[in-house]
Amino acid sequence: MAESQMMAALYQLEESQWWSPEQLQESQFDQLRLLCAHAEKEIPFYRQRFQQAGVGDFARLTLDDWRRLPILSRSDFQGREELISTQHIPAPYQVTGSIATSGSTAQPIRVSTTNLTQFLWNAFTLREHQWHYLDFSKKLSSIRYLNQREAGYPHGMALGNWGPPATLLYHTGPCSILDSKSTTVLQQWEWLTREKPAYLVTYPSILTELIKHSAHSHQQPPEFSEIRLFGETVDAELRDLCRETWGVRLTDTYSANETGPIANQCPEEPHYHVQSENLFVEILDDQNRPCAPGKIGRVVITTLHNFATPLIRYAIGDYAELGPPCSCGRGLPVLKRILGRVRNILTLPNGEKRWPVLGWGKLSRIAPIVQHQLIQKSLQKIEARLVVREKVAATQEEEIKHVIRKSLGEDFEIVLSYPESIERSPTGKFEDFKSEI
Ligand SMILES: [Zn+2]
Repeated sequence: MAESQMMAALYQLEESQWWSPEQLQESQFDQLRLLCAHAEKEIPFYRQRFQQAGVGDFARLTLDDWRRLPILSRSDFQGREELISTQHIPAPYQVTGSIATSGSTAQPIRVSTTNLTQFLWNAFTLREHQWHYLDFSKKLSSIRYLNQREAGYPHGMALGNWGPPATLLYHTGPCSILDSKSTTVLQQWEWLTREKPAYLVTYPSILTELIKHSAHSHQQPPEFSEIRLFGETVDAELRDLCRETWGVRLTDTYSANETGPIANQCPEEPHYHVQSENLFVEILDDQNRPCAPGKIGRVVITTLHNFATPLIRYAIGDYAELGPPCSCGRGLPVLKRILGRVRNILTLPNGEKRWPVLGWGKLSRIAPIVQHQLIQKSLQKIEARLVVREKVAATQEEEIKHVIRKSLGEDFEIVLSYPESIERSPTGKFEDFKSEI
């Protein structure tokens, strides 16, 4: 039964991806009308907000009405999730549990899940797998944070299959997992060369370290069919680097625990399609106006099918750049880049904000740098934390500072430090630029 429902859902998603943007939005508004009427009836927090915004007749909700609704920030309900939740959801659905965000610095937030949200999470993940023609009979290995000792080096954890959602519909090849946090890049590399998976699933920062290691030690990776990334932002430099050094294609997904899959990479282009059948995604500027294609703004998400913890105009904390319609013909909106969080934005000495671009390629040509992280300490000062294989000469230090100033701004004072290693977040994620101001 579950299998036939999933097949039907995937068939429907195969159709709707080709709808026009207008048709998709009309269908989203049909669902938003139901969601808002439900939230107004069952959740006093939302009822009050809707009243304050002067929006009431949800059967006739328009885009203009919608834009009057306030933005929901984490701090509005963090630690008080019951404020935006209800147990009364329309039959035949039930609350099945809850899921917390994997936020690296902030207190996690927890939203209720239902049998419908779980089903849809699986459906959109399977759609992504189908978009990229995954060969389910092959082996998949993952280097990721796993809070379990059994996935440590040297054995990792061996599983008979990929697990759900792939196993809901397919017989799959084997799967293995190595914990990313308790292992070094040398151990990860050695494990990978033994495992020889067709698909490697990992974080962009782990992949970068593996590529650096292979380049430095002149070793070739196993023959991957594809590398699949998640959990951190991916830049164009990493895509180029992977293609040029390993000759392998990268696929990235943009997802969050509280919302499910948000945007999946287009099968034909290195950008992302919003999963509009499940979420209404807005990219908004500082005045909460919609951004035009090419402009970067806050990602504001409404989950269309979570009636237990509706997230209505929820600012998830990420920034993204909206793209023009895709040449593939899908009507699903395009996110050209996903850029991370406020703490990843550089502030220039004159106060101007900017997304920093500094690849490891330039630095690694100057000195044997294993890992780097830039921390903005003040409006004038940037600390470059460098993990190095051997001592960096004074002339190289000057070159490094020059490269960083060229990328970030000539007026910065650059201070170099040489830690033994750079800590990851509690959930194993890594940020190569962080602002402390
Ligand atoms: Zn496309």
